[in-house]
Amino acid sequence: MPEQRNRVTLIGPDGRAVSRRVFLKGTLLGAATAGTGALSACMPMTERGIPRNVPKLFALYQDRPNGWERCGRCRHFRAPHGCEIVEGRISPRGWCHYFEARA
Ligand code: SF4
Repeated sequence: MPEQRNRVTLIGPDGRAVSRRVFLKGTLLGAATAGTGALSACMPMTERGIPRNVPKLFALYQDRPNGWERCGRCRHFRAPHGCEIVEGRISPRGWCHYFEARA
């Protein structure tokens, strides 16, 4: 007799089954987004309403560019290795999700 497992099938908004991987990905992304929102609600802000001293992890900072987008082209970059948003040493060739192109 084959072993029976307790299985729960998740149904998506379109009525189709949702794989465990898709469910976990969506749940983790939602939790991360909510966490980032809650974190930014208690962070110090600049006079323009921009968060300051954001940890690299929450800014999704990386030490490499994202296509043509990089810190050296961002309006928040403060040469030689600073940022008005993200805390710590920043590479001019890095990138984070707060990127805004310099005008
Ligand atoms: S891309 Fe992010 S880390 Fe880099 S300067 Fe802009 S805001 Fe700062």
